[in-house]
Amino acid sequence: RSGAAAELLCGVNAKALLDSVDAFLFDCDGVIWKGDKLIDGVSQTLDLLRSKGKKLVFVTNNSTKSRAQYANKFRSLGLSVTQDEIFSSSFAAAMYLKVNHFPPNKKEDGEKRVQLKSSCFFEHDKNVGAVVVGLDPDINYYKLQYGTLCIRENPGCLFIATNCDSVGHMTDLQEWPGAGCMVGAICGSTGREPIVVGKPSTFMMEFLLQKFHMSPSRMCMVGDRLDTDILFGQNAGCKTLLVLSGVTTESILGDSSNSIQPDYYTSKVSDILKLLGE
Ligand code: PLP
Ligand code: CA
Repeated sequence: RSGAAAELLCGVNAKALLDSVDAFLFDCDGVIWKGDKLIDGVSQTLDLLRSKGKKLVFVTNNSTKSRAQYANKFRSLGLSVTQDEIFSSSFAAAMYLKVNHFPPNKKEDGEKRVQLKSSCFFEHDKNVGAVVVGLDPDINYYKLQYGTLCIRENPGCLFIATNCDSVGHMTDLQEWPGAGCMVGAICGSTGREPIVVGKPSTFMMEFLLQKFHMSPSRMCMVGDRLDTDILFGQNAGCKTLLVLSGVTTESILGDSSNSIQPDYYTSKVSDILKLLGE
């Protein structure tokens, strides 16, 4: 998008948007839910889009759950979404390893946990072929040492980041650091740049385009973050809709230092219902 300011969603462009796409990709936190709370009107909006034959896909950068756990979360919030419709950055990391021929011996949610104790010398497995960094609330110096050794002592070892979000909304009360702080620690100790598989990288998009045989120009990415969601959609040539129910405010969107402009913006996804008169 060539720098044009985002258009506020209204009845006319909402109808045109709906007619011009076959699929909606939804970011999760800040769009569908906030932490553990469903955002008002989401359920009815998803039902309406499905009733109009739209394909729905859910794409989250939060690496802390498997797709099965996300399917449970959707269910517990009263939304019927199948595991097949969910793409998380942890799943993207697993798929990245698979397409790069890593043996399928690790479960998406069942990594081998390295038990590390204080010591002046660490044994590490010199055959580790990839270090995957996602959000780990139990990060510590010794885990960083293990990852650092694997990467520094094996130039062929991949350094994969599930995502680089600076902050994640883990409570309603305040923001907490996202996986970006853990990825940054390993960048700092190794001098290596990660292969990022979550939004805004194209890896997850290419994977889901292939899986669903969809055309990006007939898709709309709906998200609350400019540097992950909106860029993710734009990188692929999708239409983009920013909602203000998450991290981005109208003043951030309009700030002259912000170069990422979605096609449309609105306060929350259920505005679509209202604007279509449903
Ligand atoms: N990473 C973490 C740890 C989070 O808690 C969140 C939001 O809850 C995110 C990333 C962003 O997730 P999403 O892409 O669904 O907004
Ligand atoms: Ca989000």
